[in-house]
Amino acid sequence: MTSTSTPTAAIPTPSLATFRRIVVKVGSSLLVDQTKGELKRAWLEALADDLASLHAAGKDVLVVSSGSIALGRTVLKLPRGPLKLADSQAAAAVGQIALARSWSEVLGARGITAGQILVTLNDTEERQRYLNARETIGRLLDMRAVPVINENDTVATSEIRYGDNDRLAARVATMASADCLILLSDVDGLYTAPPHLDPKAELVQVVPRVTFEIESMAGGAASEFSRGGMQTKIEAAKIATTGGTHMVIADGRVEHPVQRVADGGRCTWFLTPSNPVTARKKWIAGSLEARGTIHVDDGAAKALMGGASLLPAGVTRVEGAFARGDCVVLRSAGGAEIGRGLVAYDAGEAAQLIGINTREIEAILGMPGQAWLVHRDDMVLAGE
Ligand code: GLU
Repeated sequence: MTSTSTPTAAIPTPSLATFRRIVVKVGSSLLVDQTKGELKRAWLEALADDLASLHAAGKDVLVVSSGSIALGRTVLKLPRGPLKLADSQAAAAVGQIALARSWSEVLGARGITAGQILVTLNDTEERQRYLNARETIGRLLDMRAVPVINENDTVATSEIRYGDNDRLAARVATMASADCLILLSDVDGLYTAPPHLDPKAELVQVVPRVTFEIESMAGGAASEFSRGGMQTKIEAAKIATTGGTHMVIADGRVEHPVQRVADGGRCTWFLTPSNPVTARKKWIAGSLEARGTIHVDDGAAKALMGGASLLPAGVTRVEGAFARGDCVVLRSAGGAEIGRGLVAYDAGEAAQLIGINTREIEAILGMPGQAWLVHRDDMVLAGE
């Protein structure tokens, strides 16, 4: 590694104050005392203070917390060392209860409601389930609650699990259109070489883009307690930054670790060239095959151009056998493609909603539903 290849501090780092939606990922080794196998309550309380001050500043806060397996294995008196899948699932089943309770208590003590969300790989990769999870997260945030998220380790089998919360947190961050992801870790950032082996290793303060060179800086180290080594953090950085989310790796071993990032403490920033909405739109426009068409009237076409969501009232016809979450083409009265988007209803429901007023949705479908057929954030217009 030559010194010229190390990204330098000359590139300005973002300020936490500028973000509106922040995901904080907490690793097991920070949260759980490695010798006693118990929760580090004082540390968690201090972190909760940090999260409460972000929340009080009007930011949406999400937590991705590991620790269920580390807590559960103590209770179940499982041996040290790597666990068999079934044992780690049993440990997670026991530990997740304690983990969620602790989060609920520490946030509750600061006037914040916590909501537990356990996700599997499918929930983030399959479009319909992705939309469900995204909506739940969105509703919780609308109500100023803090989603506390972990992988649903009790049901996830080895082929369909993340296994590390670094990548999970990155997917959650892009799914929630967060603009910042903070990975609290037992290192203070990415080094040019493994710092315990190379005394000349330097902390990389800013990574403008995850290149092959950056990837090769990451060693493979992972402890018994935390699954994610630097490699999974770099993978997470790739997911986050292509999804429009800035990511930072910071030392979580200090008290008030998030405040430390806010104060400009040592850490590594991975910058995204994009923002969550643009990245999402690119995905909708570029990588999804359309499953149907929704024709809209002139008034709706105009409203869409003005930045509105597509409401049932402006729909004149639907075609295709699309499911909820599929990509559909939006066409004007003259037949021109005006955009594409992810549809909030399946084809059968959409057909019943043609031309109706939003207030009638519940009566027609027999259940409450979304006010829109395609939400603005799930839509990309031609030329956008
Ligand atoms: N989901 C696992 C747990 O809560 C942790 C995975 C990780 O350490 O990244 O125990």
